[in-house]
Amino acid sequence: MTVSSLDRPVQFVKGVGPQRAEVFGRLGILTARDLLYHVPRRYDDASTLHSIDSLQVGMDASIRGRVRSCGVIPTRSGLRIFQAVVEDESGMITCAWPGQPWLSRRVRKGDRILATGPVKFFHGHQLQPKEFTIISRGHGEEGGGVEPEGGRIFPTYPAGEDLPQWVLRGILSRNLDELLGQVGPEEYLTEVERERLELHSLPEALGRLHRPERMIEVEEGRRRLAWDELFFLQLVQAKVRHRDTIEEPGTGFERTNHLVRPLHEALPFDLTGAQTRALREIFGDMTSTRRMSRLLQGDVGSGKTVVAVFAMLLAVEAGYQAALMAPTELLAEQHARTIEALVSPLGVNVVVLTGRIGASERRKRLETLASGTAGIAVGTHALIQEGVQFHRLGFAVVDEQHRFGVRQRMVLGEREERPDVLIMSATPIPRSLALALHGDLDLTVLDELPPGRKTVETRLYRPSERKKVYQLVESEVEKGRQAYIVYPQVEESEKTDLLAATEEHARLKDEVFPQHTVGLVHGQLPSEEKDRVMRAFLAGEVEVLVATSVVEVGIDVSNATAMVIEHAERFGLSQLHQLRGRVGRGGEQSWCILVSEPGELARERLRAFEGTSDGFEIARADLRIRGQGDLFGDQQHGHDPMLRFADLTRDEDLLVTAQRRARTIIEADPELEAPEHAALRRLLLGRHQERMKLWKVG
Ligand code: ADP
Ligand code: MG
Repeated sequence: MTVSSLDRPVQFVKGVGPQRAEVFGRLGILTARDLLYHVPRRYDDASTLHSIDSLQVGMDASIRGRVRSCGVIPTRSGLRIFQAVVEDESGMITCAWPGQPWLSRRVRKGDRILATGPVKFFHGHQLQPKEFTIISRGHGEEGGGVEPEGGRIFPTYPAGEDLPQWVLRGILSRNLDELLGQVGPEEYLTEVERERLELHSLPEALGRLHRPERMIEVEEGRRRLAWDELFFLQLVQAKVRHRDTIEEPGTGFERTNHLVRPLHEALPFDLTGAQTRALREIFGDMTSTRRMSRLLQGDVGSGKTVVAVFAMLLAVEAGYQAALMAPTELLAEQHARTIEALVSPLGVNVVVLTGRIGASERRKRLETLASGTAGIAVGTHALIQEGVQFHRLGFAVVDEQHRFGVRQRMVLGEREERPDVLIMSATPIPRSLALALHGDLDLTVLDELPPGRKTVETRLYRPSERKKVYQLVESEVEKGRQAYIVYPQVEESEKTDLLAATEEHARLKDEVFPQHTVGLVHGQLPSEEKDRVMRAFLAGEVEVLVATSVVEVGIDVSNATAMVIEHAERFGLSQLHQLRGRVGRGGEQSWCILVSEPGELARERLRAFEGTSDGFEIARADLRIRGQGDLFGDQQHGHDPMLRFADLTRDEDLLVTAQRRARTIIEADPELEAPEHAALRRLLLGRHQERMKLWKVG
C-alpha cells in the first residue's frame, strides 16, 4: 500500500522542523495530514469585526489592527497595566490589559492583532480584551507580512502558548496549497456522487475551512468533513452488520400462528400502532434467513416486553426455543412473571435461570432447557454460563435497560446456535445518536405510548420547601402507596456539599418518617444487601426507599407514586426521565418532585423537563445541552475517537444517507474488491484500521 505523502511526520513540513514538531505533537498534530485537518476554531468576518471608529462605550467589540505603540503603565495603586494603541483604516484605540504586564514580552510594535472585549470609557474609549491573538508579526520577523487571504473573513486557529497563532498561520499559509494538492488522491467520491450528495471535494472543503471567502463556505467545508467521519463510521458498522446477519445467516422461522394468534386474541388491549409496526419489522427479519440484529428502542412503558413476547412465541411456534437476558436478577424475575402470565395459558413453559438458584434446582431447570420442555428461558448472565445447553435456541432478547451501547449484548448472539437477536433499550436517544452508536444494528423505535396513561405530575421545589415535599410523601404513604427519595451518587470526595444518601437515610428514618419503614440502597452496598432491600420494597414492606441513582434500572413497583429527586440539577435530563419513569406505573396519580437550589442555571433545564414527558424530546434536549462528546466518550466501547466535524444535532440527514450508502456498498461488495471501491478499501484498511479492529472486523 502506498503511503500518502500526507502521512509524513509534520516535522518535514516547510517551516516546522524537529523542535516545533514536538510542540505540534502536544496539539495532537503528528503528520502533515493532521496539520491540514487542524482547522480554525472560530472565524470573524465583517459582521463580527468592528471598525475602530464605530466603537461605543458598553458594547462588546472585535477589532483587527496594527499595534502602533505599546508598553506597561504603572498606576498609583500598584496595578501594572499593559497598553497597546491599535490602529485600523478607520482610527485608533487604546487596548488595556490590567494586571498583565508580562504581555510586553509577547506583543510588539508592528504586530497585527485581533482583540475582543468590552469597550469602556477611560480617558476616551478603551478596549479591554477578553481574548486576543497576534495575527502576524511586524516586518522582518518570521510570519511577518502574512495577511489573511481574502481579507474579509479571518480565521483563528486552536493554538497554544508555545505555538502562537501567527506561527501556525505562517506555516499553514506557506504550505496550504501543496497540502491541498496532496489530499486530492484521497478523494473517494466521484464528481457525480458529490453532486448528488451536495458535497464539495476534499481539497475544496479543506481550502474553504482554512481560507473562506464567505461564512457559508465554512459550513460547506465542515459538512464535507462531517460526511467523511460519518460515512466511514457507517462503513465499518455496515461490515459488522454484514458479518452478523449475512455471512453467518440465521434461521428463517416458519410462521404457523398457533401461538402468535392466540396471544393476540388473549391480550386485554389492542397493540399500539408503533407496536404493530415493530412486530412487522421483527417478524420480517425472523422469517427471512438473514439473521436479525435489531435494536428495539422505546420509552419506559411503551410496551417493549409485549413485543418481545410475540417475537419469542414466533420462534417457539416454529419449533425453536427463545431466551431473554436481563441485567439483574430482580429484572429477570420481573420479566419472567410478566412473560409467564402471557404464555403459560398457551401451554408454553418458562424457566428462570439466575445466580440465586440452588444447585439441585438449577440442574433440574437446565434439564428442561436441554430437553426442550421449556420453550422460553428468562435469566441473567447465568443463561450464558458454561454448561447451559439449549435444545434448539433460535431467538434471544437482550434487555439492556438503560445501559445502551454495551457490546456484551452480542454475547448471546455469539453462541454456537447463532440465534436471531433483539436488543431492548429503554433509553430514548435521538435518532442521530442511535444511528451513530448502533449503526451495526437495525433500529425499531416505539414512539407511542399505550393510550390512557396518566402523566406524572412534575414539580420543582427549593430546598427550603422540603417540608412540603415530605408532607406530600407522607400523604401518599398514608394512602398505602410507596415513595422513592433519590440522591446523586455517593462519592467520598464530594460528600461535603451533598446530602449523602446514607446520612439522609438516618435522618429521614428517625426524624421525618419515624412511623414508616425507610430503606436504603446505594451503589456501594453489597449486592445481596441491595437485593434484599429492593425485594422488601417490591413486597411493600419498605414504604420509603432512599436511594442513589441505582434505582434507575427498570425496577417496576406499580404501587410507588412519589419520586423525590434531591440535587436534581446534578442529573442529566435523560437520567431524570428514567427516574421519573419509576412512578406512574399503576393507575394512580403519581408525582415527581425535583428539589434544587433556585437561581442556578440548571433550573432552566429542569423547567424544560417539567414541561414534557416525551423521552425522545428530552433526549434531544440533553444532546443539545451536554454535547455529543460526553455520549461518545464512554458509550462507544470506550475508545472510538469522537466525531470532530460531525454534529449530531445538525447532521442527521448526512447520517441517514451515509448509513444507506455504506450498507448498499457493503451488501454488494463486502470486501470492497470492485475497482471502483479501490480508494475506499485503501482508506478503510489504512486510516480506519483501528476502528475496524475495535469492531472486530477486518
Ligand atoms: P416497557 O417494557 O416498554 O417499559 P411494558 O412492556 O412493560 O413496557 O408495558 C408497560 C405496561 O403497559 C404493561 O403493563 C403492559 O401490559 C401494558 N401495555 C403494553 N402494551 C399495551 C397496549 N398496546 N395497550 C395497553 N397497555 C399496554
Ligand atoms: Mg418492561
